[in-house]
Amino acid sequence: MSAPRPPRPRVLSGIRPTGDSFQLGNYVGAVRHWAAMQDESDCFFFLADLHALTDTPEPERLRTRTREAVAELLALGVDADRSTVFAQSHLPQHVELSWILSCLTGFGEASRMTQFQDKTASGASSSVGLFYYPVLQAADILMYQADAVPIGEDQRQHLELTRDLAQRFNGRYGQTFTLPAPYAGRQGERIKDLQDPTRKMSKSIGGAGTVWVLDDPRTITKKIKSAVTDTGREVRAADDKPGVTNLLTIASVATGASIPDLEQTYVGRGYGDLKGDVAAAVVELFAPVRERYDALLADPGHLDAVLADGAGRAGEVAERTMTAVRERVGLLAPRRTPR
Ligand code: ATP
Ligand code: MG
Repeated sequence: MSAPRPPRPRVLSGIRPTGDSFQLGNYVGAVRHWAAMQDESDCFFFLADLHALTDTPEPERLRTRTREAVAELLALGVDADRSTVFAQSHLPQHVELSWILSCLTGFGEASRMTQFQDKTASGASSSVGLFYYPVLQAADILMYQADAVPIGEDQRQHLELTRDLAQRFNGRYGQTFTLPAPYAGRQGERIKDLQDPTRKMSKSIGGAGTVWVLDDPRTITKKIKSAVTDTGREVRAADDKPGVTNLLTIASVATGASIPDLEQTYVGRGYGDLKGDVAAAVVELFAPVRERYDALLADPGHLDAVLADGAGRAGEVAERTMTAVRERVGLLAPRRTPR
């Protein structure tokens, strides 16, 4: 008789339904790991539509984009049978928990979040929602008692805050939340904007420096061939060569070759060769994704059913957590009135 399998670790991660599609960095830093970890982990993946509201998107576009994002996740290998896929706004418990956590969050602590500082410095309007974003994110994660959270490097500070809040809550009210760890398997790759390799590629920035997963092959090729590179001729990953380093990182993810091996391949060759090869590799990587996406989007009923099923499964866990949280912080349970 084989030994019973230990319970699978719980994994939680989200993505905002912003932009025209997911961008290459979302694939590299997040979604490819999601797809790869579904067998060994009990995965919860959600579309962070409430987080998208910090950009005040056009309402119809947000609705459409949320459904498109489900199709994109499935096309990238997320399997809605093995994983729980849902929309954040379908579970009102997220906002409820975020309020309770916000009462344990220091104002100075929240002010230190560098993503808020970066976004406001780059001209985004600084709403209270944008400031509060990391607290809602902590609620997203803690709600599901996640053991691991696969996220890109840009989200690491938010995860630290999440762990601090979990510890604070547990210390004050008794053991309630699992402490989430960053996903150990991830390499920490951070894809940079092709036109400005000193900043990360982002959906909300877009433009010629962003490769969308759903870009057609010609557009992908054009964007990569126009990438800003660095002075000198040597193809080498180095701090003073952010453009070339970024292209080597992309090549490494798309082909599976290590960066030192790639550097060897390009000895005596120039940036033009590297760009041509990176473009071809990314085109090949995303061509089948686009095909699957088109087929999935043709059946919106199926996408809505995925979200409905996901909300049901996520809701069971969320209600279990919230029943304990409400009781521990001292909220009087509503009396059920007999009809
Ligand atoms: P937005 O500009 O709307 O915030 P975004 O591209 O930053 O979009 P998010 O939805 O905020 O995407 O993040 C989804 C996931 O993708 C997160 O885990 C984030 O860490 C990861 N991610 C985002 N951009 C990059 C990048 N350039 N490189 C690696 N990972 C990234
Ligand atoms: Mg972001």
